[in-house]
Amino acid sequence: MATDTFTDNPLLQDRFGRTIDYVRLSVTDRCDFRCVYCMAEDMTFVPRAQVLTLEEMGRLGRVLVSLGVRRIRLTGGEPLVRRNVAHLVRGLGALPGLDELNMTTNGAGLGRFAGELKAGGLDRLNISLDSLDPQRFRALTRTGDLSKVLAGIEAARRAGFRRIKLNSVILRGRNQDEVPALVDFALARGLDISFIEEMPLGAISEHDRALEFVSSEALRDQLSERLTLVPMADKTGGPSRYWQVPGSDSRIGFISPHSQNFCHLCNRVRITAEGRMLLCLGHEHSVDLRAVLRAHPTEDAPLRQAIIDAMAIKPERHDFNLAPGEQLVRFMNMTGG
Ligand code: SAM
Ligand code: SF4
Repeated sequence: MATDTFTDNPLLQDRFGRTIDYVRLSVTDRCDFRCVYCMAEDMTFVPRAQVLTLEEMGRLGRVLVSLGVRRIRLTGGEPLVRRNVAHLVRGLGALPGLDELNMTTNGAGLGRFAGELKAGGLDRLNISLDSLDPQRFRALTRTGDLSKVLAGIEAARRAGFRRIKLNSVILRGRNQDEVPALVDFALARGLDISFIEEMPLGAISEHDRALEFVSSEALRDQLSERLTLVPMADKTGGPSRYWQVPGSDSRIGFISPHSQNFCHLCNRVRITAEGRMLLCLGHEHSVDLRAVLRAHPTEDAPLRQAIIDAMAIKPERHDFNLAPGEQLVRFMNMTGG
């Protein structure tokens, strides 16, 4: 097998001068939950043969790091329903040159896997949590068991994960009233928390996205009525903006794809479980890396070139639209959230 040497050159640069050093890799499009904003109730998943093998994902990760990628986030679908995902974590965790290997999970599998993931080299966890009320949690996730997720969060803390971040998608009339309780939950445990504006990915009939949309600004105003929020100076290069409560180390973030365009800072691409590299969350511009991986199983040069060439079609910005008929057909679980 060809080996690549680690390089500091920003090989992955797009037409707008942005350096791409962050990849979100979806390890599966499947999930044990059916969150109302993410999936339809009846989903058709990609046939397994079309999904990259763990070995193909490991090879892709190695080549990406050789091209200057410094951060990989494993996501999905639910990464912990992919059998033996810890094997992939161990492979990627051992790559010299990769600064951070992170995962976004619904948390339900952490009771089983947190220790193994930590030992395998996973650096950080984002855990989704939209409600602290068991019935409401079930309604929002359709199948989720809150007690399992809470046990997963505790398992992750016990395993020694630092700066665990909770992610909450807030929908008007569904869980907006829980924002203060979710913040208290995070502060009490020294966790970070980010509130995410719902994005129009995939056609859903469960609710009208435009009617249930709550802006980050509205949430910040809601929280400011009972907490002092101090803006933090540091920017992560991502879409989150962070605030802190005096006396606490926790960060409270707001991810605002609608109300604040962050595209000029974009340093990331996404890769679907089928090996399609998506250059922007809000567009269909993509490159089929699985075809290249499978056509050249022992030679990395064509894969490297395909990734470098893909940078030329990265769009300048997304343009989300909540109007019916204007929404992307791709669901978040396909995209790699
Ligand atoms: N299953 C894992 C989880 O739920 O954390 C990882 C994948 S999930 C697609 C990643 C993140 O995307 C979750 O925090 C989820 O809440 C968020 N998400 C899913 N659909 C969304 C949408 N339409 N708008 C905004 N965020 C969404
Ligand atoms: Fe599954 Fe995550 Fe989507 Fe919920 S948000 S359905 S947990 S992939």
